[in-house]
Amino acid sequence: MSNAHISSMTKRLCGHIDMYSFSSKGRSGRRSDTLYATATVCGECRARLGRLVEHPDTGFFPVALPALAGRENAVSWAKDIRLKTLRKLGPVMAQLKKSQDPLATAAFAAYEMLFKIPTALFWIENRELPFDSAWVVFEVEHLMRTRPTSTVRLSGSSAFVYWSQADCSVIAAAKVAASAVIGIDVVPEAQTVFETQPPSPPSTSQSIFL
Ligand SMILES: [Zn+2]
Repeated sequence: MSNAHISSMTKRLCGHIDMYSFSSKGRSGRRSDTLYATATVCGECRARLGRLVEHPDTGFFPVALPALAGRENAVSWAKDIRLKTLRKLGPVMAQLKKSQDPLATAAFAAYEMLFKIPTALFWIENRELPFDSAWVVFEVEHLMRTRPTSTVRLSGSSAFVYWSQADCSVIAAAKVAASAVIGIDVVPEAQTVFETQPPSPPSTSQSIFL
């Protein structure tokens, strides 16, 4: 029985059908691969989200930050980390806000959830995390799912997971904001006309390495 690699056309969370490569063995492995494939977006949507958050202009997005909770020294450390994160992600949020892509609204909602997190320890534990496209894809997939899934690991860096445990009204608000990509047959195309956007300069962001 050759069980090396089976690829098949699979309908993904975004409604697109793409070639998914099944690698787990046996019937149950195949089943869990299928569940995973249908709970995640297609390669093209991953790439699309990546393009939306990469190479932002120098824009800035003002975010109302909640007071942090925790022990005094933890709070001051976390404040610092959060500020650095916001300096890096503010331009990304500004870029997302300008975009006409429905996936951008979902990504923006994910970053909004992130900056609502008041727990000092969350920021400290995730101080090395870039909150980049991989993070965004994970969060947007969470927002898009109409049912919870057990096939995706829970992540301590996820704003969605944080709020699903702390306060579901934050999730509900994010789902409203991202409604263009939730509970639909297929994620709509980006109607962007990328108006006179010059090729983004290699590095405008004053990125900070922690
Ligand atoms: Zn897709």
